[in-house]
Amino acid sequence: MSAPAIVWFRRDLRLADNCALTAAVASGAPLIPAFILDEEEGGEWRLGGASRWWLRESLAALSRDLEKRGAPLTLRRGDAQAELLRLVAETGAAAVYRNRIYEPWATMRDARIEAQLREKGVTAQSFPGALLAEPGSVCNAQGKPFRVFTPFWRALAKLLQPAPPLPAPKKLRAAPAPASDRLDDWRLQPKKPDWAQGLRESWRPGEAGAQRRLADFLRDGIGAYALLRDFPAKDGASRLSPHLHWGEISPLQIWSATAAAPEAGRSAFLRELGWREFCHHLLAAHPDMPEAPLDKSFTRFPWANDAAALAAWRKGETGYPLVDAAMRQLWRMGFMHNRLRMVAASFLVKHLLLPWREGELWFWDTLVDADLANNSGNWQWVAGCGADAAPYFRIFNPVLQGEKFDPDGAFVRRFVPELAQLGAKYIHKPWAAPERILREAGVTLGETYPRPIVDHADARRRALEAFATLRSR
Ligand code: FAD
Repeated sequence: MSAPAIVWFRRDLRLADNCALTAAVASGAPLIPAFILDEEEGGEWRLGGASRWWLRESLAALSRDLEKRGAPLTLRRGDAQAELLRLVAETGAAAVYRNRIYEPWATMRDARIEAQLREKGVTAQSFPGALLAEPGSVCNAQGKPFRVFTPFWRALAKLLQPAPPLPAPKKLRAAPAPASDRLDDWRLQPKKPDWAQGLRESWRPGEAGAQRRLADFLRDGIGAYALLRDFPAKDGASRLSPHLHWGEISPLQIWSATAAAPEAGRSAFLRELGWREFCHHLLAAHPDMPEAPLDKSFTRFPWANDAAALAAWRKGETGYPLVDAAMRQLWRMGFMHNRLRMVAASFLVKHLLLPWREGELWFWDTLVDADLANNSGNWQWVAGCGADAAPYFRIFNPVLQGEKFDPDGAFVRRFVPELAQLGAKYIHKPWAAPERILREAGVTLGETYPRPIVDHADARRRALEAFATLRSR
């Protein structure tokens, strides 16, 4: 029997449109599909709690899918480099196939691993597939990476020549399976307390779940996407982000599946995929984006230090119903609607003057779609210190945002049950309601629901003053 080939699964937990898997199958070698859990990888950006939950479910699905095709998934835990080399030595593998991931820590680590494999005479091959275009391939006239989205997206669209996505292999020829950990021994799921009930109700991780989500969205969502995507109660967006993050579906599969969709919805939707590309290309060009503002003048920003305000924001107890509903959606579902991410993030950095990195870290731990490029790129964008950033002086008013995007208050009522009996007129500003109306709705401000922790007008003034200090030096 010829020497086996390892297919190293990482952020590509799918069988279809998987270039590394397809190449390994084409090589004719017997296969060892493997996943290594390295709990230290990423350093500060190691897996957050919600991501661990997702990964457990997604690996269970991948394992079943591989098993059905005849090649079980080998699970190992420990330092990725050491474990991979150990697996190569144990099995006599002559090749390792992997799809690329682009976080700066991963690119450096993978280069080290590749060099070590080559030194040992093992073939190491890597493939694209997580993005529509490789970072570094979309440049402006000076050959530099773009810092503004629209020209980036135009240039990318010109470059793209999407080939049809690859089919999943029907059968896999397996090598004798090496020893494997048991997935449940990894304790990726929360036990005491088990906070994952809302996640279980909301998501179906894995390739089949991703394909189902896409099919539902193509049937019910994409036609009205441009109209409804900003209304959190309407469920007008795709909810594909965690599936994309874990590579349960590729952007190419999505691109090609939308080909027959109505043009307005399709182009608005693909533009959002474009933002995903933009964030990833930015991160590759600015590896310190998760930690440092792209606009260096922001290193002098006079951020506040207020543990009580941060705790109120995290718990969804700011007294601003839309912000609180958003933060509680995050806690319950491991997800937050995009419009609300902008409102809640703006509230943290502008109303509370708390550092964007605090919000970035909280999202990192609580989002099922926590993604280094998208999270850091968007936090910087909201804070006003990122590429193509919203200007700092544009400060979202959480009351007006609520009245515009949740006009009847349905979303707030779903996640802030203590306001469920309040009518649409005051649902986004309960402090303005007459005493009688509050009483009839069973609301006692300061007891059943908090008073606003900051006054919007004061907070806005304070934020603008803080911002002015940057420009005045
Ligand atoms: P859809 O509207 O259906 O969009 C389709 C896909 O496009 C998404 O699945 C996503 O992959 C991509 N996309 C959409 N909007 C953006 C965007 N603004 N930037 C980059 N990609 C985008 N997205 C993440 O995937 N992970 C994160 O950690 C993350 N953190 C964020 C933090 C903040 C402060 C903000 C404002 C946004 C963040 N986003 C993040 C972007 C966006 O909110 C989510 O991708 C989107 O809400 C996911 O929902 P959806 O799949 O229904 O999106």
